[in-house]
Amino acid sequence: MTLFTVGPVEMFPSTLEVSGRQLPYFRTDEFSALMKEAEALMKKLSNAKEEDRVILLTASGTGAMEAAVMNCLDADDKILVINGGSFGRRFCELCGIHKLNYESLDLGFGEALTTEALSVYEGKGFTAILVNLDETSTGQLYDLGMLSSFCKRNGMYLIVDAISAFLADRIDFASDGIDVLIVSSQKALSLSPGLSLVEISARMIRRIEEIPQRTMYFDFRSHLKDMERGQTPFTPAVGTILELHQRLRDLDAIGIDEVIESTRRRAEYFRGLIKDLPVSIPNYRLSNAVTPIIFDNGGAYEIFRRLKDEYGLVVTPSGGDLRDRMVRVSHIGNLHTEDYDALVKAMKEVIE
Ligand SMILES: *Cc1c(COP(=O)(O)O)cnc(C)c1O
Repeated sequence: MTLFTVGPVEMFPSTLEVSGRQLPYFRTDEFSALMKEAEALMKKLSNAKEEDRVILLTASGTGAMEAAVMNCLDADDKILVINGGSFGRRFCELCGIHKLNYESLDLGFGEALTTEALSVYEGKGFTAILVNLDETSTGQLYDLGMLSSFCKRNGMYLIVDAISAFLADRIDFASDGIDVLIVSSQKALSLSPGLSLVEISARMIRRIEEIPQRTMYFDFRSHLKDMERGQTPFTPAVGTILELHQRLRDLDAIGIDEVIESTRRRAEYFRGLIKDLPVSIPNYRLSNAVTPIIFDNGGAYEIFRRLKDEYGLVVTPSGGDLRDRMVRVSHIGNLHTEDYDALVKAMKEVIE
């Protein structure tokens, strides 16, 4: 079985080795030191500043999205949500549930986020943006530079769900002026699901301290306080943290530029291979993490099912309206050009 899914993904041998070991007790100096090293490595990979911080939440990515909404925003905010697919819609739902004042910039399927579309919201008193840098449901990669300068010009906070973009596409926490960066274990980090990292800017930390507490489990203040000594308020996903620590060390040794570049090369290789198949690729900016493939004559879900059952090759199916029109093929995780050769060969056979 080979996973071309966006998460869980194919894991690396060093991660599998760590995940097979007996877990340690975690209220110890040794575990604290490991947590602090993981924080430092995460800050290095994302180019955060000394005073920025990272907390670890035992939750899937959506838990971290909700936690960010609860801890970093309040009723005085006027929030702009970039809503270009199911993850953008999730931010809208979260704002609704938590009774926050938001507007959404809605993109239809295939529609790119442009400077013109964004300019409608210029100078209108918005205080924060919520955006999924790679809207994984469509594979659209928004222009971080454009969003970043929009936020700087308008004095807004920039809250970025980079759950599928981190390690696949360029992100610079400091120079992009990001206030909150959300990352999760099962995407390009290629770890077990259930652990999320939230990187927070110094100015957002000051703001969090002023917002009344609305949650116990997800309270960022207690997480930040405990993380000063490399701990968490509650029992964390100890095993996934050990996987994370190992993986961050490996990534640091490879170097972030090479990690992104090799993901880009895999994406490009695959996109080249499917040129002669009767499929199309949307023409908005694509993340290196995933390639959305459109079957103009339908049958996408059946192709997903046959590739899985007859070949053991698992691509990512789509939900809702796109179920029969689109599958997505990921370029994150432990995948190689031969895997794409096998996938495209199988796709050709199934399509015929
Ligand atoms: C995977 C993903 C999430 C998180 O989904 P969970 O199922 O909660 O882990 C959130 N946002 C984006 C952009 C994602 O790709």
